[in-house]
Amino acid sequence: MSINMKTATPVMRQFWEAKKKYPDSILLFRMGDFYETFDDDAKLASQILGITLTKRANGAASSVPLAGFPFHSLEQHLHKLLNDGHRVAICEQVEDSKKSKGIVKREVVEVLSPGTAISDRFLIGNENNFLGCVVFNQELVGIAFIDYSTGEFFCGEWKPNQVNSIIDRYALNEILISESQIEEIKPYIYNKNILLTTIADFLIDSDSSYDILKNHFNTKSMKGFGLEGMSLAISASGAAFDYIKNNYLGSMDHITTLNKIVDSEILSLDSFTIRNLEIFHSLSGLEKGTLISVIDKTSTLMGSRKLKSWIKRPLNCKSQIIKRQKKIAEYYDNDVIRNDTIDILKQVSDIDRIVARLSTNKSNPRDLLNLFLSLDSIEQFKKITPSTLKNISELLINTHNLTGLCKQIDETIEIDCPANFNNSGYIKNGFSKELDALRSISANANDWLVKMQVSEQERTAIPSLKVGFNKVFGYYIEVTKTHLDKIPEDYIRKQTLTNAERFFTEELKEYEVKILSSEQKIQELEMDIFNQLRKDILDKALLIQQNAEIISDIDVFSSLAELALLNNYSCPKISKESKISLNNSRHPVVERLLPMDEDFIPNSIELDNNNQIAIITGPNMAGKSTYLRQIALNVILAQIGSYIPASKSNIGLVDKLFTRVGSSDNLVGGESTFLVEMNETANILNNATGKSLVILDEVGRGTSTYDGLSIAWAITEYIHNDKKVVPKTLFATHYHELIDLADRLPKAFNLNISVKETDDKIVFLRKIVQGGASKSYGIHVAEMSGIPNEVIYRSHQLLKKLMQDKAIENIDINNEDQLQIFDKKEQEFIKEIKSININNITPLEALQILSELKNKYS
Ligand code: ATP
Repeated sequence: MSINMKTATPVMRQFWEAKKKYPDSILLFRMGDFYETFDDDAKLASQILGITLTKRANGAASSVPLAGFPFHSLEQHLHKLLNDGHRVAICEQVEDSKKSKGIVKREVVEVLSPGTAISDRFLIGNENNFLGCVVFNQELVGIAFIDYSTGEFFCGEWKPNQVNSIIDRYALNEILISESQIEEIKPYIYNKNILLTTIADFLIDSDSSYDILKNHFNTKSMKGFGLEGMSLAISASGAAFDYIKNNYLGSMDHITTLNKIVDSEILSLDSFTIRNLEIFHSLSGLEKGTLISVIDKTSTLMGSRKLKSWIKRPLNCKSQIIKRQKKIAEYYDNDVIRNDTIDILKQVSDIDRIVARLSTNKSNPRDLLNLFLSLDSIEQFKKITPSTLKNISELLINTHNLTGLCKQIDETIEIDCPANFNNSGYIKNGFSKELDALRSISANANDWLVKMQVSEQERTAIPSLKVGFNKVFGYYIEVTKTHLDKIPEDYIRKQTLTNAERFFTEELKEYEVKILSSEQKIQELEMDIFNQLRKDILDKALLIQQNAEIISDIDVFSSLAELALLNNYSCPKISKESKISLNNSRHPVVERLLPMDEDFIPNSIELDNNNQIAIITGPNMAGKSTYLRQIALNVILAQIGSYIPASKSNIGLVDKLFTRVGSSDNLVGGESTFLVEMNETANILNNATGKSLVILDEVGRGTSTYDGLSIAWAITEYIHNDKKVVPKTLFATHYHELIDLADRLPKAFNLNISVKETDDKIVFLRKIVQGGASKSYGIHVAEMSGIPNEVIYRSHQLLKKLMQDKAIENIDINNEDQLQIFDKKEQEFIKEIKSININNITPLEALQILSELKNKYS
């Protein structure tokens, strides 16, 4: 909208001035009891929030679109705007409207965006909230991401084909990109709910970024962070840091370190794999039925976030995995210590987010108390953990002694303190003499007034004399008109009533000033004490964060031990051999979701250099996908250091895990199912190594039978024969022709999932056996699903024909082969007869059924 500032009303001029400073934000403009949005913001807000779009008169200028909501529903509406990927600037009235001359002053007091929200109200407790910055050059991509709400800061450099995985793995909510690189980032964020924020090109200059980081961390170089020479990672980190610092009006004191991500140390999981294995979200988008929903037994939000970050980055280093296993083992073997540890953890708050709130001045007295109680847990862990538990003790040895700080908080903050600053009283009595004196003035005001009333009554000999207070006139001495002749000389007239006069004295005036200012002084003094404590805490932010890190480690280790005991997991042997061996392994999620009367059937696998490719056949619904996924999930669990659902195992470290499971439609993205399938497969063939594990589930099914079979065949040969790319592979397929392939390729072998055939029914045994499956049973499974008998019957007919003639042309589509009405009735009749359980009916009921059948079919 073009704005004519001259003809606009003063309020609209004020709005447009503010909007000019925050053009990319939806401006919430406080007007009395409402937050209003105007112009294009109003159109957008009305759509997102479902609020009415109206118009506001704008003086001589044309009216302006307007949409607003009551101030008390700010939180709920902010949430929706941030979730929808918008930045929001909150413009408040910053002076009392009664006192202002002319239009009340307004200022933007807070800017929120999906990637920088800090308040618990807008954050998911057990999830990070990352803002990322991406910087491209020809070969590499630098990515940095900061969780402003916890102070975590990471960066690294990757190849372009890894960018998607990083964005997905760390669930970036907002990405900064320089003006000239917008087109480059677009393919990576297509169809994702990520706010893209453009920044000027000069902001990604690596020299200035280097200086920004050096200054903040107070170091001479970035060597200590392992970032020397990584100009793209540095550019991205400096730009992300600077952007938050300048745009979100907050302190950066809680950003105390920068972690470099080194991919060679981790098991790489691409975004397809994370999605296909339903690690964080099920394919239907829910958390139920995911790996994380089953294995997360942590007690703290920090622990829960840490477990998630471990799963996003399983280790690829034997010694590090074994270190984790040893700690879990100690908790696993010591029930009392594990249970006591979990009890202590239940009292621990989200230390990282408290420190972030302290740093950004958004904390409250309760936060400090929770911080003290949480940090104190370290001392409790030390007390309950015997030194014989070497591995856990080793963790605790590395904690910092913060008992002094804890004591300081304990001595300062009142145990029953409020969770906001609306009321005073959160600083302990006895902490400050000045505060105590002010409090006693305020508390003794009533006594003082009673005493004064008695002494004035005596002095004046007026028994009805009263000392009182009212909000408009303050403190007064009230004398009825009949006693006016007795008032002393020092009484100064204040107010005349019908039957009485009100006075004050110098002494009363002084006391009034003292009392009225004492309440305000109390508030100011408490705030000063709070801020001093806040500063003292922030001086130790790094030490606090390091202790919090150890607390969250303890949470994850003890919870994984608890998980192992609850779900009967065992400790895997981790080796550098080229081998994956799992005995009686289970799918960690499916086994929890089966109905009570069904047992999960465990299955084994042996893969090594001589048994490199397993081709798995079996009917639909037999459990092929489950089997493939359980092997992948067991490997992931093993490489985060966890115990796994298997009786015995040997996991030779995997460097990359790829899965192509199920078909994923990406119609909105303009790609056909088959193209998506081939993209994902290409990614595997181009990036797998000899240490990788590849899971292929029905690759090729998205096209015609012969095309699909040929592609599946060629892929298997490629994986088998290529000199460099020899990943261990599990390939589930419905192309029974591939069974023959296993006979021709020495390192490939057949497995199938057994079923039992009885009459015309099949029973799934869920057991993996050697060899290929002989039949597909697809039509039987269709029958179980409730497909009409007519279709099933016809399918059987067609299958028979196809198997005899092997050519579609020979099938007569005319009546001859179609199911006749008579056939259909006969089928239904047979089905009904079969469904009668004659052991369960009386002779009378049998006669009744017979009569019903006769009526129906004669
Ligand atoms: P399709 O070929 O149709 O995709 P599939 O062979 O891949 O089928 P799954 O989807 O893996 O079959 O399994 C079907 C269902 O069978 C699962 O949802 C689960 O309920 C059950 N199931 C699979 N494996 C087992 C098992 N080992 N023990 C018990 N139940 C199992």
